[in-house]
Amino acid sequence: MKRSGGKRIYVDMDDVISKTTDTYAAIVAREFGKQARFEDLSSFDLKKSFGLTDKEFCFFFDLVHQPEVLLAYEPVEGCVSVLSRWARQGCHIDIVTGRPPSARDASLAWLDRYQIPYAAFIMVDKYNRTAKDLSTIITKDQLMQRQYDMAVEDSREMAFFLANSMTVPVMLYDRPWNVQPVEHQNIRRVCSWQEIDGCSP
Ligand SMILES: [Mg+2]
Repeated sequence: MKRSGGKRIYVDMDDVISKTTDTYAAIVAREFGKQARFEDLSSFDLKKSFGLTDKEFCFFFDLVHQPEVLLAYEPVEGCVSVLSRWARQGCHIDIVTGRPPSARDASLAWLDRYQIPYAAFIMVDKYNRTAKDLSTIITKDQLMQRQYDMAVEDSREMAFFLANSMTVPVMLYDRPWNVQPVEHQNIRRVCSWQEIDGCSP
């Protein structure tokens, strides 16, 4: 067991600590009658992965960001115990999410429900998709002013941004939408929180 005291760690929320996309195939099947398996979600663009029209995707995006849906997600196996131990060891854990500003209260309630420790909860416009509301959300340029010793992400795009623009070592959580080979000295593919714990700084 490594000690991570004093380190500053960036932890993404969806599909890193929250089992979010696991629930989407059932929602899409129920709402639109379209079938897709989690394993087949080869694009980070869910509209493309599920074959949704613009209108269907807007409906879906609103639906999956409703408080009752956000609160129902299960934690990813192992994350609660690893993050709790890191916090006890003095780590500063920032939960850094690309969720829209409307998801703030439910996201904080979810972290509280599972007693996931964090020093800061940060909403970033990771994918240039939300209207700018600078009172509750920061830009990637603003994120760059923060320093991290390690990051855990499942977005390839964000992993490369962190590794290149912020020179942060990144654990890329293996997901169907990021399976393309990553050859970068600052990015390491990981498949579980046990593995992340083993390679933490
Ligand atoms: Mg994510």
